[in-house]
Amino acid sequence: MSTPPANPLNLLGMPRPRLAEQFEQWGERGFRATQVVKWIHQRGVTDFSAMTDLSKALRQRLAELATVQLPEIALERASGDGTVKWVLRLADGNAIETVFIPEDDRGTLCVSSQVGCALDCTFCSTAQQGFNRNLTAHEIIGQIWLANSRLPVPDGRSRAVTNVVFMGMGEPLANFEALVDAIDLMLDDNAYGLSKRRVTVSTSGLVPALDRLGEVTDVALAVSLHAPNDALRDRLVPINRKYPIRELLAACRRYTRDGGQHQRVTFEYVLLAGINDQPEHARQLIALLREIPCKINLIPFNPFPGSPFVRPSMNAVRAFERLLTDAGFVTIVRRTRGDDIDAACGQLVGQVSDRSNRPARMIRLHAELPVRLGATA
Ligand code: SAH
Repeated sequence: MSTPPANPLNLLGMPRPRLAEQFEQWGERGFRATQVVKWIHQRGVTDFSAMTDLSKALRQRLAELATVQLPEIALERASGDGTVKWVLRLADGNAIETVFIPEDDRGTLCVSSQVGCALDCTFCSTAQQGFNRNLTAHEIIGQIWLANSRLPVPDGRSRAVTNVVFMGMGEPLANFEALVDAIDLMLDDNAYGLSKRRVTVSTSGLVPALDRLGEVTDVALAVSLHAPNDALRDRLVPINRKYPIRELLAACRRYTRDGGQHQRVTFEYVLLAGINDQPEHARQLIALLREIPCKINLIPFNPFPGSPFVRPSMNAVRAFERLLTDAGFVTIVRRTRGDDIDAACGQLVGQVSDRSNRPARMIRLHAELPVRLGATA
């Protein structure tokens, strides 16, 4: 018997075309990749010996050459409102968070793309952690695999997770290759088969990477705008100094160029009391976005320890929303979900080993659900 290689190849995050090439390199038929992808992602099987439509010899070879390795669930918490949050321990000891947000007609998984984040947005708790490293494609796709394996499947659906948003820890466009591989598997009918409108990449605005993304896919796009002018956005989202609003909006137009009404950008706008929530800001925002087919997601600020910002009153939020809707914008206010499970999980994730040597603080994910104000959950 041959000894397994020290680092067997993890097949979990490999898109089907790449896996087919890998099989050919091993002297196997490329179409075997489709069978293996189905076993792993549709049937949730990670043990090659159980992949019964492969020959025994191939199963044994795969067990020697490869693996299907998932992050470990360090903590699972269910909120009273149905939100579920996992702290996942990665092979190197780092931890990330993933959140599932159920609604009547869908189940949305909020996934992380990096351990920490390098972008330093001043109102974001992940930024306080500093940046540790990019997630691999298998660590990204592992979040959806694990969520599906843990959640009950609602009647009439094949899986619990119907939508994915890259709104967890990290800046997805700063982890381009892994992001694209993970999206490939999410959209692949042999894997998760999600439609491109059910996968949303949220970015703070890395313009060149956004253009590259548009060359390879057209999944839904959310942009963290948060300010209607460069002076303010420079302060809140420092990457704006490199890619100012005008360039960012031009890139949004390029990304959605063929989509018209079908492919609208969602602009996220965190509301910070006294900073960006005044009627003047709403008016500037209206002027800025007038020509762009878009939706606006208002996110009342989620406070975290040590942050200087304050969440505006509900009246201020409503007044801001009103100005936008009166101007004809589809505007949604996100209600925070899973409040009751945030703190405990955040403390655990605080044990992440941060190689940038910044003080470790609490990570708090934004498990939020877009709902109109006044609507019941
Ligand atoms: N890096 C990506 C994903 C970040 S998280 C991006 O910037 O889009 C998803 C959203 O939560 C972003 O719009 C982010 O700006 C917002 N967010 C971060 N911290 C927040 C806080 N404390 N309160 C409310 N929203 C916050």
